[in-house]
Amino acid sequence: MATLIDGKRISQEIKDELKEKVSALKEQGKEIGMAVIQVGNDPASTVYVGNKKKACAYIGIRSESYELPEETTEEELIELIEKLNQDDRIHGILVQLPVPKHINEDKVIKAISPNKDVDGFHPQSVGALSIGQKGFVSCTPAGIIQLLKRSNIEIEGKECVVIGRSNIVGKPMALLLLRENGTVTVTHSKTKNLKEVCKRADILVVAIGKPKMIDASYVKEGAVVIDVGIHRNENNKLCGDVDFESVEPIASAITPVPGGVGPMTIAMLMNNCVEAALM
Ligand code: NDP
Repeated sequence: MATLIDGKRISQEIKDELKEKVSALKEQGKEIGMAVIQVGNDPASTVYVGNKKKACAYIGIRSESYELPEETTEEELIELIEKLNQDDRIHGILVQLPVPKHINEDKVIKAISPNKDVDGFHPQSVGALSIGQKGFVSCTPAGIIQLLKRSNIEIEGKECVVIGRSNIVGKPMALLLLRENGTVTVTHSKTKNLKEVCKRADILVVAIGKPKMIDASYVKEGAVVIDVGIHRNENNKLCGDVDFESVEPIASAITPVPGGVGPMTIAMLMNNCVEAALM
């Protein structure tokens, strides 16, 4: 039976540490501010934005909310970002993705100052990560490293297999595991013999976006399995990319869905915002 990696508890621990830091900064007269921008009213985005604002309030970060109409132009959005780039009271800028189709996401990401890029999506942040320089790291993979470290799971020298190569999860995950001295393999939809490759893993990170695709036949006995996926099944219950019931008996440790990777993303966003204020 696997140990459950408790993302709810670990994310709470991180938020409480940040709360203390923020309160100490307040005593020195420094207030931290984050701008949260949402264009349109996609219901899922509204939930994510609400959770981010709630986390800011808990930690003591002042959040400034910009709810822009669906028909906002790319120019208007970029103009707002540029204004916020210049605003000393704002340390982090978050644009909730996806933006409506008429707005070029890449241009929006590039418009955010790398010093306020708390999502870690700016090409400069990604470049810094790949050459081992300081910069903001995408929150979900950064959260996974925290889950591993705070669960005393050694990464150095381990065979790490990442399924998925997206810019926000798979690729930065691979770079972070490499930075921690793991031996890293990245797999994707064109990978041949996926099962055999996955079976080599001491640490298997699954970010495919396919409900319950990874069952025990992909997992080595005793492996650590991190499930990034989030889906709602036909009974409206949350599940991941990993078939938990099948994998849990053979893994040594595993993240549940919900309560695994999910809560870590917001905790790391808050961490990035505090780091931004300390720069
Ligand atoms: P993407 O859809 O951007 O990427 C999926 C990746 O999986 C691609 O690289 C794709 O390969 C690969 N893939 C797809 N099918 C297969 C297959 N059959 N075999 C091997 N590889 C395959 O997803 P994201 O990285 O954005 O997200 C992945 C999952 O994580 C989703 O369920 C998402 O909802 C969730 N997520 C959760 C977060 C959290 O906070 N917990 C945050 C972000 C995402 P290719 O490149 O060849 O197409």
